[in-house]
Amino acid sequence: MSCKSFLTLITVLLCANAVFGVNIISRAQWGGRSATSKSTLATGLSYAVIHHTAGVYCSTQAACSLQMRNMQNYHMDSLGWADIGYNFLIGGDGQVYEGRGWNTLGAHATNWNSKSIGISFMGNYNTNVPTAAQIAAAKALLADAVSRGQIKSGYILYGHRQVGSTECPGDNLYAEIKKWANWRA
Ligand SMILES: [Zn+2]
Repeated sequence: MSCKSFLTLITVLLCANAVFGVNIISRAQWGGRSATSKSTLATGLSYAVIHHTAGVYCSTQAACSLQMRNMQNYHMDSLGWADIGYNFLIGGDGQVYEGRGWNTLGAHATNWNSKSIGISFMGNYNTNVPTAAQIAAAKALLADAVSRGQIKSGYILYGHRQVGSTECPGDNLYAEIKKWANWRA
């Protein structure tokens, strides 16, 4: 690729991101059910919390959509929650999946749900390793959250284990997020 066409590509990507934000697989696309109730999540939040599902890893949109439906059924039918717990999820296919979404209170970290957005990587990251595509997707989603005002630009990023008694988000994912600019000890 020539230098000029590379620069054109970068410009297109930057502009597309500014206009449309990160591409998110919607609830309709993965076959989600309607929530039984919804509460508003405030904007200007100070925190984002990273999780793993500790469940099955998936690497295609079809497989990740199936995991989304299974998880939503588990959270709603077995745990009795209003909806899938997380605000967003990251598939092993490198795509973002809509959970409760923007401006909706999640159920992902006791005492932290009203203060943070919850983003969960599908799989068990004590054994799975986050891919470059997954990392890029999560970072783009967090940048989108800032640009929308859901979280502040100086937000603090935590792994679930920092705010609760859990091994979540798994050792491999926790080691990764410790390298991100907004992570704090
Ligand atoms: Zn967690």
